[in-house]
Amino acid sequence: MTVVDSSTDAITIHNPATGLAVGSVPIDGAETVAAKARALREAQPEWEALGPGGRKKWLLKWQEWILDNSDHITSVLMSETGKSRVDANLEATAVADMINYWSGNAEQFMADKHISAHSPLWKVKKLTIAYRPIPLIGVITPWNFPFAMPGLDVPPALAAGCAVLLKPSEVTPLSAVELVRGWDEVGAPPVLALTSGYGATGAAMPEVCDMIQFTGSTATGRKVAAACAQRLIPCSLELGGKDPAIVLADADLDRAANGITWGGFFNSGQVCVSIERVYVEAPVYDEFISKLAANVRKLQQGSESDSSFTYDLGAMATDAQVDIVQKHVNDAVAAGAKVLTGGKPTGQGTFYPPTILTDVTHDMSCITEETFGPTLPVIKVADEEEAIRMANDSVFGLSASVWTGDNARGERVARRLECGAVNVNDALVNVFNFGLPMGGWKESGVGARAGGTYGILKFCRQKAITSPRLPTQKSELLWYSASKRQAQFAVGAMRAFGAHGLRRLGIKR
Ligand code: NDP
Repeated sequence: MTVVDSSTDAITIHNPATGLAVGSVPIDGAETVAAKARALREAQPEWEALGPGGRKKWLLKWQEWILDNSDHITSVLMSETGKSRVDANLEATAVADMINYWSGNAEQFMADKHISAHSPLWKVKKLTIAYRPIPLIGVITPWNFPFAMPGLDVPPALAAGCAVLLKPSEVTPLSAVELVRGWDEVGAPPVLALTSGYGATGAAMPEVCDMIQFTGSTATGRKVAAACAQRLIPCSLELGGKDPAIVLADADLDRAANGITWGGFFNSGQVCVSIERVYVEAPVYDEFISKLAANVRKLQQGSESDSSFTYDLGAMATDAQVDIVQKHVNDAVAAGAKVLTGGKPTGQGTFYPPTILTDVTHDMSCITEETFGPTLPVIKVADEEEAIRMANDSVFGLSASVWTGDNARGERVARRLECGAVNVNDALVNVFNFGLPMGGWKESGVGARAGGTYGILKFCRQKAITSPRLPTQKSELLWYSASKRQAQFAVGAMRAFGAHGLRRLGIKR
């Protein structure tokens, strides 16, 4: 069968704030993706053989390169996303922090685990779990954090000893090109490569990789999961969110308003864990709204062409994203919501102002669908119970926040929310604590990223090894009963070593 490879085509990338072309990348066809995967597979065994300590040296050289080039990386990021500098600036340093964490802990996280026998009968065996890297990981990333998103997933996979094929979004591939260029420039082994193109390039990845780590929309996540199921390879999916914030009447309202302003409008709301719904207890609703509106009216929007930190939030990444935001606002207004701030695109480029919606009901699209933009619909609730019920009334379950003067109460509410993470009196911070898992419930995902040991072991295959503790003999009791005598012995042993028998013998497990 002849496979047509269209890798002669290229995608031109535009700055959404200015409309200017800022770079281009090739469109890799399925054959090119497969060739890159083959080359990575060839290099992977040597990479694995270096062990966590050998790999750490390369990861730290890469980290050094990222820190040395962080200004350049930030400029590239801003040019392809239209972000403000304050939004773009954290990506390089966050990736450096992640490399530190995974390279520093991989050895401990991947160490053999020695398991205690579950019954005295098995004390004769040494029981071990060993870990080997899954050879080739396909990492597929979206456009909202073009440097940090690959930087979240590539380092733990490399630290685990895997090779990685990275497919960034067609909208913002240039920052990921920089990430891979850094790896090549420090002379690290050829176990990280980039493939660029549209969705079809991403769709070729499950065909050639051994696991897919995907971040993006729930709709595409379903397709990726189906493709992985066809090949029976694992996938980890970080999908959309519709994160609620609950403001209880005993909250410090200044802190709540500040935190929710940041959690809702950071990166122009283009964050999977953005606050996208706010539930406020009735007694403090008016005061909270006036503090939130005052904050939002002070925000400056733009994307700097110099090296200053002038703006709080920048442009949206695409025209399509502006259209989604406008549709959600229009739907809400048509159904009776009020626009307190923003509500319409401003000026040239894809700038959409921070928008607060009030008089919102729970059936509006701004509440039921992921907006992924700078909107905060706010709903007045009677009490904590109603807030929890409404927060849980969503197909999504990525994360949430609870704002209260009583941290213990906040933690009690947190345990009742149907989502993968809850921040009490803060927003988004779970993401930056790599010892915690970041994963969605319901339609927000399958699996998780980070999470300490889990964050490395998810990129590994586990192997159970048993070996004798005592000298073996030609003929000895095996676990199965090959004769009547052995069967009787096994029954007797179960009686003796089962919970009742052990108690009778005065032995605690
Ligand atoms: P997608 O889910 O469509 O894309 C995410 C990544 O998957 C991109 O690299 C994309 O490539 C790739 N891709 C597309 N089709 C396939 C496929 N069949 N198989 C494998 N990979 C594929 O997100 P969008 O960028 O289109 O954004 C749409 C919506 O997703 C947003 O409006 C937002 O709601 C949500 N989103 C959620 C994010 C999150 O962090 N949870 C992040 C970004 C978006 P390409 O871009 O080249 O098509």
